[in-house]
Amino acid sequence: MTATPLVTLENVDKHFGELHVLRGINLAVERGEVVVVIGPSGSGKSTLCRTINRLETIDSGVITIDGVPLPEEGRGLARLRSDVGMVFQSFNLFAHKTVLQNVTIGPIKVRKKGKADAEKRALELLDRVGIANQANKYPAQLSGGQQQRVAIARALAMEPKVLMFDEPTSALDPEMVQEVLDVMTSLASEGMTMIVVTHEMGFARRAANRVVFMADGEIVEQASPDDFFDNPSSQRAKDFLSKIL
Ligand code: ADP
Ligand code: MG
Repeated sequence: MTATPLVTLENVDKHFGELHVLRGINLAVERGEVVVVIGPSGSGKSTLCRTINRLETIDSGVITIDGVPLPEEGRGLARLRSDVGMVFQSFNLFAHKTVLQNVTIGPIKVRKKGKADAEKRALELLDRVGIANQANKYPAQLSGGQQQRVAIARALAMEPKVLMFDEPTSALDPEMVQEVLDVMTSLASEGMTMIVVTHEMGFARRAANRVVFMADGEIVEQASPDDFFDNPSSQRAKDFLSKIL
């Protein structure tokens, strides 16, 4: 018996009005796999991420999480959505809550965890991302890199089956990019299933099992990082790589 992929998209289409942003997307992400999604601005990468946890609806096709099709709404949707963690470019922390409260609020409110349990786990996770000593500060008192690490700890606190990152380092000052990539690399090596939209090609080469190249709402090609970067097969990928590498 082969294991079901953790996330699948089958023939997924999505329009924004006249704009056809996702065109017949087929993708299967295996357990423990790290898939890096790259492509030009406007190619549909963020929309793809947002459809996977139903921040956006789709027009047609099927998305499954751990073998279960994403329902349109209701309790089933809330449960499946909490299986999918998301880390955004713009941290999205609660400004009026401490770091610790940012990490415990989901487990307490959504997972119905006790406060003491949630705090114990949160401190472990903050330690894992290297900022346990900042637990009682407010987000504004932290650097961008630290805030993004809090956002990762917050996502992990929900015990997601898959973690999605949408350009998690794009809003950071250059000197803070590496500390966030290091946390992501260690999660990847620990077997976390991850879908990562990024322009950090070094990270893609080192940490990805597979690179998915999107352009104009389509998956144009996908390959191992070495194959993709050394020998892209499509002209669009060649053009894209020649601009960024
Ligand atoms: P990427 O993340 O690859 O840059 P996006 O998924 O953000 O691409 O956007 C894909 C296309 O969809 C772009 O042309 C963008 O302007 C458009 N788009 C994204 N979100 C919306 C929205 N909420 N309403 C209308 N158009 C949108
Ligand atoms: Mg985007």
